[in-house]
Amino acid sequence: MRVLVFYEKLIRGHIVKEIAVFTDKTCALHDPGAGHPEQIARLSAVVTALQKPEFKNIDWHRSTPEATTAQLEYAHDPDYVHTILRAAPKTGYRMLDSDTILSPHSIEAALHAAGAVVAAVDHVLTGKVEKAFCAVRPPGHHAEKDKAMGFCIFSNAAIGAWHAVKAHGLKRVAIVDFDVHHGNGTENIVDGHAEFLYASTHQYPFYPGTGAAVDTGRLGNIVNVPLQIGDGSAAFRRAFTRVILPALDKFKPELMIISAGFDAHQNDPLAQINLIETDYAWVTTELRHIADEYSHSHIVSVLEGGYNLEGLASSAAAHVAALMKP
Ligand SMILES: [Zn+2]
Repeated sequence: MRVLVFYEKLIRGHIVKEIAVFTDKTCALHDPGAGHPEQIARLSAVVTALQKPEFKNIDWHRSTPEATTAQLEYAHDPDYVHTILRAAPKTGYRMLDSDTILSPHSIEAALHAAGAVVAAVDHVLTGKVEKAFCAVRPPGHHAEKDKAMGFCIFSNAAIGAWHAVKAHGLKRVAIVDFDVHHGNGTENIVDGHAEFLYASTHQYPFYPGTGAAVDTGRLGNIVNVPLQIGDGSAAFRRAFTRVILPALDKFKPELMIISAGFDAHQNDPLAQINLIETDYAWVTTELRHIADEYSHSHIVSVLEGGYNLEGLASSAAAHVAALMKP
C-alpha cells in the first residue's frame, strides 16, 4: 500500500512530503519578560528536538507570511484587530492582562504565528503536503473574538479553521485541543458555527474557568471533557475513546486541526495532569486514524502551551513522530 501511494505521488509529477513544519524567527522575538513561563526558549526547545535524524524528512518552512487583517477578522472583531495591531510598546512591556504581556515585537510574532497556520492550511489543502505542524508562539487558544488573555493574542487554530472554510470552501473542520487548559478562545470563536467541531480535554476546574462538560455550545458542536487534578494516561485515553473520537467519527471532518499544548505533561509546572510522551503519541495516532478515514489524512497541528522545556520538547517530538509514522 505504501509503495502504491508513493508511485501515485510520483505519477502526479512530484513527491509529496508527508509533513511540513512551519515556524518563523519573529516568533522568538515575543518577550513577555523574565520569569514568564511562556518563554522564548520554548520555541528553540521544540525546533531543536525536531532536528534529530528521525525527522530528516520534514519539509521545513522557516519563514511564514503575516496573517492578513482579513484573515484575522475571520475569527476576531475588527475593532479588536484594529486596536491590537497598534498595541505593542515602543520599548519595555505593556500588560494586556496580568499574564498576557507585549514587548516591542510581540504583535509581529503573533501575526507570523497566525500566518504560519494559514500557510499550513494552504499547503495541506492544495496537496503540497499531507500534514503540518506549526512551531509558533505566542499560543492562541485563549484569545477570544475581542480579548487577548492567557498568553494568547490571536486565536491561531481558529483563524486557520476559518481560513479552511472561507478560502477553501470546507464545510466541516474539527479542532481538537489536548492542551491542559480549556481553549475558551477557540470555543468562543467557533460557537454557533456549524462548520466546526471543537473538542477539548483539560484540567477542570482550572484556568480559564470554562469548559464544563455541560457546555456543548449553541449548536451542540462543542465537546468538553474535563479531567481532574492528578488524572493521567487512563483518564485521558478514556476521554478520547469514549467521547471525543466518537464525536469526530460522527462529525466526519474534512480537515483536522490540533491545538497541541503539552502542559498536561507530568513535569509541567502550571498544571496537575500526569501525561507522558507515549500518551501524546497515542492520541496523535488515534487522530490520524480519523483523518485517514475522513480528511484525506490532512492534519494541521498548532503548538499551544507546554512550560517544562524538556517535557515540551520530548512531547512535541513524540507528537510529530506519530504524525509522520507510516
Ligand atoms: Zn495550556
